[in-house]
Amino acid sequence: MSGGGATAGGASDGEAAGAKLIDGKAEAAAVRAEVAADVESRVAAGARKPGLATILVGDDPASAVYVARKIREAGEVGMNSEHHALPADVSMQELLAVIEDCNRDDGIDGIIVQLPLPAQLDEDAAVAAVDPTKDVDGLHPVNQGALFTGRPGPRPCTPVSCVHLMDTTGVDLAGLHAVVVGRSALVGKPVSMLLLERHATVVLCHSRTADLQRQVESADVLVVAIGSPRAIPGEWVKPGSVVIDVGINRVDGRLVGDIDFDVARQRAAYITPVPGGVGPMTVAVLLRNTRDAWLASLASESAA
Ligand code: NDP
Repeated sequence: MSGGGATAGGASDGEAAGAKLIDGKAEAAAVRAEVAADVESRVAAGARKPGLATILVGDDPASAVYVARKIREAGEVGMNSEHHALPADVSMQELLAVIEDCNRDDGIDGIIVQLPLPAQLDEDAAVAAVDPTKDVDGLHPVNQGALFTGRPGPRPCTPVSCVHLMDTTGVDLAGLHAVVVGRSALVGKPVSMLLLERHATVVLCHSRTADLQRQVESADVLVVAIGSPRAIPGEWVKPGSVVIDVGINRVDGRLVGDIDFDVARQRAAYITPVPGGVGPMTVAVLLRNTRDAWLASLASESAA
């Protein structure tokens, strides 16, 4: 890809072509179907079912909705699920005991500790307590290290979803200028590593980035994960670019992303909607990670 002019999708500067929407729901359905078929055929051949444990602390309504969705979709692809609902004032010791029980349970292949946790609990310690082989969120320090050093291991679900959705466009990421806005361990940092793995040149921005507009305007590939409704003006989007909006914000009862979608879609070549973009894919990737952990466990059970 040469610098300047046409970028990922071929629309030239100033052209208001209208982006193609990247359909996260359709992609998620395809991933779920692939996982369901794999589970069905192996269980029919005598394998035990995969098991997913969900741990929810407190009664945050958004977290409860996310967990309910994970449990429902796990059932739809033929997995067992086991839910642990803990009170908001649970102690760290009690939480660690539940995680340890799940670690020891041979019928459990994946463990999700739904974040965020209430303030009295140490999130890093909870994530680090999960057996890395059952860490289907890909957030354990061992698995983050594997991502950083290019070794195999479960990758974080939302970043994988972002790259998967980019791949649906057919755009080759190698050599493209990728700008990621947001540097969380959950999204921004790992998606930067995945893009680097795919040979993009990556700039990772945050709240103290000087001249964010200039950075965003240079992006052939733009990923925004800041949690601030429509904070990135659509006019900053480079014509012909691939735009992935990770943000989920509720405004006047509606879900909106971190990018001003209506203007951005006039400039980008491809863009994810909110809702219906990264969100549905994230759960599908979680199920695929659980399937992969189950396959690894079945392989070690049969080798034992
Ligand atoms: P965090 O709050 O952990 O991180 C936000 C990041 O954005 C920080 O690095 C912060 O910078 C940066 N930031 C905040 N405001 C600005 C700004 N105005 N300009 C530049 N950078 C800014 O958020 P998460 O990464 O956990 O989540 C981000 C968004 O993605 C949320 O809306 C969340 O709901 C959504 N999300 C969606 C998922 C999905 O499945 N679709 C999954 C996970 C998250 P600094 O580090 O300097 O403070």
